[in-house]
Amino acid sequence: MISVDEALSFINTHTSSLTKQVLPLSQCLGNVLAEDIFSPIDSPPFPQSAMDGYALEWESIESNRPIPVQGLVQTGDTENKQLPKGTALRIFTGAPLPLGADTVVMQEHVQIKDGFLTLINPAQTKGSHVRKEGSQINKGALAVASGCIINSGIVGFLAGLGITQITVVPKPKIGIIVTGKELVRPGDELLYGQIYESNSLMLKMALQEGGFDVLTIETVDDVPSLIENAIQKAVETCDLLLLTGGVSVGDFDFVSQAVLANKAEIIFHKIKQKPGKPLLFARKKNVPIFGLPGNPASVLHCFQTYVIPSLHKLSGKPFKITQGKKMPINAPYHKKVGLTHFMKGIVKNGEVSLLTNQESYKLNPFVISEVIVKIPEDTALVNKGDMVEVFWISNLWN
Ligand code: AMP
Ligand code: MG
Repeated sequence: MISVDEALSFINTHTSSLTKQVLPLSQCLGNVLAEDIFSPIDSPPFPQSAMDGYALEWESIESNRPIPVQGLVQTGDTENKQLPKGTALRIFTGAPLPLGADTVVMQEHVQIKDGFLTLINPAQTKGSHVRKEGSQINKGALAVASGCIINSGIVGFLAGLGITQITVVPKPKIGIIVTGKELVRPGDELLYGQIYESNSLMLKMALQEGGFDVLTIETVDDVPSLIENAIQKAVETCDLLLLTGGVSVGDFDFVSQAVLANKAEIIFHKIKQKPGKPLLFARKKNVPIFGLPGNPASVLHCFQTYVIPSLHKLSGKPFKITQGKKMPINAPYHKKVGLTHFMKGIVKNGEVSLLTNQESYKLNPFVISEVIVKIPEDTALVNKGDMVEVFWISNLWN
């Protein structure tokens, strides 16, 4: 058995970033950008009015006489209009500034009478309310640097430059295989001895919380050949494979032999931790394979601790081992040395308290838990008021 830190280090070594790919911009939310993007256009592409008002030449204002308004420019007009000398044109936000105009006066600052404009607010500035061509970004300038994580603002910015596809590290295609003869799909009839299968949906949602989709979900019986075939099929199409159940020491736990039968390399099997001790990590070519335990709480803890960092690395982000925050615990906690404990807790008045029902088959504490508390392998006793390491569940993806 290896320690939590050793396991993380193995996962880091045996996970590689996926090969970059050109994808439609609309499919790149959360992806790591794998190229510098230079603007293909000036933005704005033409001088624009920044207000609803009147376009004119500054000299006309200086002359201090009523200015004739001779027509209008609408937003979206594609004609490059000329402003007749000494006149004003009605103009709207985003409309092209007519040739010869250098200033826009807000409509709130003028009075129009008999087709003539007079200023009612004399505080005007030459060149005001004009968005110069290229004033957001010039053609050829760096718009977004390689390594950025694509967010909605970046998507908006790039779409506004007319860009439709970009080079990113793709997100892994993820396969889930749940094993267990006892498993029944929620909604179906439950016979004595059977339980509802909850790991696949839980994992799918856990992945969605991090912006990842699942490509395939298979449920298989505890039959070596079936598990073997399911793994073989999944590894052909997926970049990451998650199995649950069948990874422990029971007579019907066939995952590790099915992994070996697929000529995958087992990197480690079993970790000095609770829950989640039976975790298996293997690799076939570049596909990391996690043999997660069957017990639902173990599945979620292992996902949070080990699968998330692996997903980050596959997606082109640095492999990060997050340090928790230190916080005092509100009651003593005893444990045997030799296993790291992961516990669900809540925070009250700056102190963390551990919840009840921490057994690995129970998910009840996840309903209200705010934090995961990590008690180190070599600790036997934590006293009330001692500092413990705490991870906010809402922050596990950061
Ligand atoms: P195993 O590791 O296969 O021995 O499973 C350990 C425990 O987790 C057993 O009580 C299983 O019934 C339960 N379990 C396994 N897979 C699932 C699943 N997909 N959903 C809910 N419980 C499961
Ligand atoms: Mg099983």
